[in-house]
Amino acid sequence: MHLIPLGVAAGGVPGPGGAGSGYLVQEGSTSLLLDCGNGVLGNLARYVPLQRVDAVYISHLHPDHFSDLYPLLLQRTKFAPLTVHAPPGAKAKLDKWFDLLSSNPGVYRSALDLREYEPDAPIKAGPFRVTPRAMEHNVPSFGCTVEAARRTLAYSSDTRLCPQLADLARDAQLFLCEATLQEGVGDAEFNRRQLHAHLTAAQAGQVAAKANCRALALTHIMYYLDAGLSVAQAQKECLCPVTAAKEHAGLRV
Ligand SMILES: [Zn+2]
Ligand SMILES: [Zn+2]
Repeated sequence: MHLIPLGVAAGGVPGPGGAGSGYLVQEGSTSLLLDCGNGVLGNLARYVPLQRVDAVYISHLHPDHFSDLYPLLLQRTKFAPLTVHAPPGAKAKLDKWFDLLSSNPGVYRSALDLREYEPDAPIKAGPFRVTPRAMEHNVPSFGCTVEAARRTLAYSSDTRLCPQLADLARDAQLFLCEATLQEGVGDAEFNRRQLHAHLTAAQAGQVAAKANCRALALTHIMYYLDAGLSVAQAQKECLCPVTAAKEHAGLRV
């Protein structure tokens, strides 16, 4: 299994050439896109023609995780409908979105094969078995495990520290974990409030250690933070190798 980060920006605020959240996962000839945030499509098109994306998994309905779905669906109107696995309630919300933004919402609806997943119920997508798990964020948010060829990628989605995060990451070959914040850096009051919705790098490291992950990749790091310091703070907490996910820096799972 191969993972290519296409966008790693927290809140969708990118550095130059960056993008909101998006990760291309490939096994054989199958391409699965985990999240489809702002700016992801331009990076995705470097690796796979947009009409060849087999399925999309949306972790939660924050714009930095799904807003490029809109142009992706527009492109797909000329091809087979796009299978999108999305949280419960997504269909009604996306319908509203199409009605608000489009002069021809029917075009988007017909390009979309939306399947609302249930937490803990595995989804089959080609060689992948994707299992959503409910996390704790300021909107319903679902991390997932992606299994193929006896390897497991665990993706945290956006979440605060919660017991089910270590269950999600248990024994994963790669744990792709949000680390929006750093300890002791930035505005203390802002950080305190953000901890209701997000993790620090040190917390990501603690979870990786508890879950016995083989490797940890930090992502969704605030744009003004030094990713190297995030890696150092996480690495203090766990023995497995820690990296910061970076657009186009592929990772083997
Ligand atoms: Zn986010
Ligand atoms: Zn979010």
